[in-house]
Amino acid sequence: MGTGTAAMGRKSGKKTHIICRRCGGHTYHAKKKRCSSCGFGDTSKTRKYAWNKK
Ligand SMILES: [Zn+2]
Repeated sequence: MGTGTAAMGRKSGKKTHIICRRCGGHTYHAKKKRCSSCGFGDTSKTRKYAWNKK
């Protein structure tokens, strides 16, 4: 077995993203120490992109 779809069931254990205490999402990267959703740990402002605006 390689690392195809069949191996996806063994992805448990290692947490890359944990609960972010600023936005509450499950998007805080435990190793990078930044949230991929709001940018917590990376910027003091909320992470925003022009393409993400309403
Ligand atoms: Zn966040």
